[in-house]
Amino acid sequence: MAIAHLLGYPRIGERRELKFALEAFWKGECSAQELQAVATDLRTSNWQKQRAAGLDFVAVGDFSLYDHVLDHAVLFGATPSRFELQGKEIDERAYFALARGNEGQPALEMTKWFDTNYHYLVPELDGKTAFKVNAHDYLAQIDEAQSIGVQVKPVLLGPVSFLRLSKAQGIDKLSLLDALCREYAYLLAELKHRNIEWVQIDEPVLALDLDETWLRAFERAYAWFRQSRPKILLATYFASVARYQPYITSLPVDGIHLDLVRAPQQLGPWVNAIPGHWVLSAGVIDGRNIWRTDLDQALALLEPWAARLSDRLWLAPSCSLLHVPVTLAHEHALDAELRSWLAFADEKVAELGILRCALNDGVDSMAEALAAARAAIASRRKSTRVHDAAVKDRIASLSATAEQRSASFAERQRVQRERLQLPLLPTTTIGSFPQTGEIRGVRAALRSGRIDKAEYEKEIARQIEYAIREQEALGLDMLVHGEAERNDMVEYFGEQLTGYTFTQNGWVQSYGSRCVKPPIIYGDVSRPQPMTVETARYAQSLTDRPVKGMLTGPVTMLQWSFVRDDQPRQTTALQIALAIRDEVDDLQGAGIAAIQIDEPALREGLPLQQAQWPAYLAWAVRAFRVTAGVADSTTQIHTHMCYAEFGDILPSIAALDADVITIETSRSHMELLDAFGEFRYPNEIGPGVYDIHSPRIPSVNDIETLLRRAAEVIPASRLWVNPDCGLKTRRWEETRLALHNMVEAAQGLRDSLQADETQ
Ligand code: GLN
Ligand code: ZN
Repeated sequence: MAIAHLLGYPRIGERRELKFALEAFWKGECSAQELQAVATDLRTSNWQKQRAAGLDFVAVGDFSLYDHVLDHAVLFGATPSRFELQGKEIDERAYFALARGNEGQPALEMTKWFDTNYHYLVPELDGKTAFKVNAHDYLAQIDEAQSIGVQVKPVLLGPVSFLRLSKAQGIDKLSLLDALCREYAYLLAELKHRNIEWVQIDEPVLALDLDETWLRAFERAYAWFRQSRPKILLATYFASVARYQPYITSLPVDGIHLDLVRAPQQLGPWVNAIPGHWVLSAGVIDGRNIWRTDLDQALALLEPWAARLSDRLWLAPSCSLLHVPVTLAHEHALDAELRSWLAFADEKVAELGILRCALNDGVDSMAEALAAARAAIASRRKSTRVHDAAVKDRIASLSATAEQRSASFAERQRVQRERLQLPLLPTTTIGSFPQTGEIRGVRAALRSGRIDKAEYEKEIARQIEYAIREQEALGLDMLVHGEAERNDMVEYFGEQLTGYTFTQNGWVQSYGSRCVKPPIIYGDVSRPQPMTVETARYAQSLTDRPVKGMLTGPVTMLQWSFVRDDQPRQTTALQIALAIRDEVDDLQGAGIAAIQIDEPALREGLPLQQAQWPAYLAWAVRAFRVTAGVADSTTQIHTHMCYAEFGDILPSIAALDADVITIETSRSHMELLDAFGEFRYPNEIGPGVYDIHSPRIPSVNDIETLLRRAAEVIPASRLWVNPDCGLKTRRWEETRLALHNMVEAAQGLRDSLQADETQ
């Protein structure tokens, strides 16, 4: 009998109940009890869904009020000493102080959970860290689940992953391993005591490149778990872990979970390698994407091994369902055909139930459900909404010169200077200006039908004019239209491209109460008509200064969407590249002299394993170059990147061959600049001179100091002056003051540098 289970469920709720409860609690509009009641309801509903689908266990401990890594820091008493919480009970106030900061202390740092768009809080460890398990809340959730009569499988983040994902100051993280594992061992003993049969221990760091020291750490860590404890299912996901087989099979655990969506090829080798008593949990349902599972294909993958594994075969989604929306039940706007191709968390759980029965009772027992799945897969495979011959032909006949600008950078620089007539150290911004209540109100009014399209456009035009006048008054050299018409830099374009669709409720947790609603790319992408040309033309008509056209690049369009699983990512990227390329061409045709193609997500698309970096970087860079390649020498191509360390991909950034790159550097300003300097980055560059994420207004002096330093590593003739990211989250009052100081700093330095040159 195959056993069905899942690794984790979305916490946010069908209608983002958790988000609203959290935000009400933070505003003081609801009590801690009320917040906890919402959390209890969500957990209960998640467990009931798992039970209703016929799963053999429900996952417990996967829920979190903010983040599960933070919960583990709290569970094991690893709160940073700067919060002075050691040995104290962590109530909601203390917990959210860690997550969001308080008057005295900034929050724990946040970073991306592997290659997902979920962000976890990074535990801070140091010489004073003294682990001590405090399992009260964790065990209470187990009691809660047991009380509704389900078979409970607690979930824990494993000790090696916990340490690896933490940051440690002044000590070697691994020196804390034994102390941490001792606490895990206490907890495991307690679980055993509560008659828990299986516990799931996640070690997602096994998806990464690990050196011998870290691999050996597993052996040492798990040696602590030889005493009284439930059986352990070691959960891996996001990549093949076959290369670590010798390390893993010697661990004293009782089974392994494998991601067979990302790495189906590891199944056979693992069946052959595992000890005779281990179970193998086959992650055959995609926990990272929203497509309906090809159940026939999943059954075919398992078939050769099912008899051999027999009772030891478990079925599961590839990873926690945290990364997909909760349910299709509230998607009323999607048409029936498109909808039939999709499966969110609830639908995936149902699929799991079907697979379980098909394996245990024979496919005939599930004939109807399997036929329905088969019909949906077939309709998607041959749909003309998915496949557009014109798009495929264009890709097939794409020439190598498409990604080549018509002249070298030196030549482009010369003709662009002639055309643009900008001063030394030109000033500019990244694109968006404050998204005021007024702007959001106008958008809401259009959506609800209170105003019509014409009125809306008039209002947006007014906002654009306002932004242009402000920039002229500030004395900026290259202007932007301000992006008032955009709610989101991907959605805005996706809505105008074929092959994209949008959900009403497809929210996925990004961090804490913050959710994103990624578009779905379901078909071949093309651009039926110009998307930004009228807006750009209008903005440019208002001023004599150059106004940048503003586009989102193909890699970011891809990275921040749910993508097709029926063709390689790079093919989809190239289709988007061609669509945006057409827009670049039309913008320059309309007289726009500078066009920015934002790629903030280029770095985050990097695969988890370094061996796969070159292939990714090659197609990502090509997609960008295809987008920009249509630009004439006199059209200045800008790009913008943020949120990341770029040091290790500088050659690829240079290979984009953008004429100007503006980049977020405020956090480790000098490090990045040094890297660009050392690498001898060849084109023009605008290192962000102040942090737009902070409400603090930078002084003229602050900015001047940064610029002087920048000019030491990059010749002033190639430097631009700009904030480090878009200004949409700021207010006009602060924006005005900050940009005023920025322009003044640039002017001051410009004068003194020119004076140096004439001496
Ligand atoms: N042009 C966009 C803006 O200014 C860029 C956003 C981003 O970097 N994420 O908002
Ligand atoms: Zn940015």
